[in-house]
Amino acid sequence: MKISKHAAVTIHYRLTDAQGLLLESSFDSEPMIYLHGTENLIPGLENELDGKVAGDKFEATIPADQAYGEYHDGLKQEVPLEAFGDIEDIVPGMRFIAETEMGQRPVQVTEVKDDVVVVDGNHPLAGQALTFNVEVVEVREATAEELAHGHIHAHGGSCGGHDHEPCDTQKPGCDGNGGCGCH
Ligand SMILES: [Zn+2]
Repeated sequence: MKISKHAAVTIHYRLTDAQGLLLESSFDSEPMIYLHGTENLIPGLENELDGKVAGDKFEATIPADQAYGEYHDGLKQEVPLEAFGDIEDIVPGMRFIAETEMGQRPVQVTEVKDDVVVVDGNHPLAGQALTFNVEVVEVREATAEELAHGHIHAHGGSCGGHDHEPCDTQKPGCDGNGGCGCH
């Protein structure tokens, strides 16, 4: 079947940035399964996948505005060190929730000066065109349960009857597909 809204789609993909640097690849591990048409992928990649069938291979370069968005200078800000209160050892890479001009969002520490901490609320891939090399592995209908949950259950299995919280895909190790134990 062709990939269309509410298909359960399995893909392998390799992601490189505008400089050709490899950022991610699924080819040496498990392929990714996602529910098509529910904004689980960046919009530009979903558009490219629409209508494809199992076995299709393609390369697509997705502009920033169809990927993780443009880079907003206003999301980068300097925060006085004292605003962090009792938190010690602030180092680049640490993540916090901060008030920005676009509301509350996760920010990452990018630089620590004497008494000022620079935080950036942009997605790490914001402002970048991204190139995907994709192989469509499998396309099937999503089950009624998967549609109700808004995501795919690995190998078409059931959810196991747990209380179903929405998957927190921001959580380390979570791929929205059971990686964090939410399934
Ligand atoms: Zn579920």
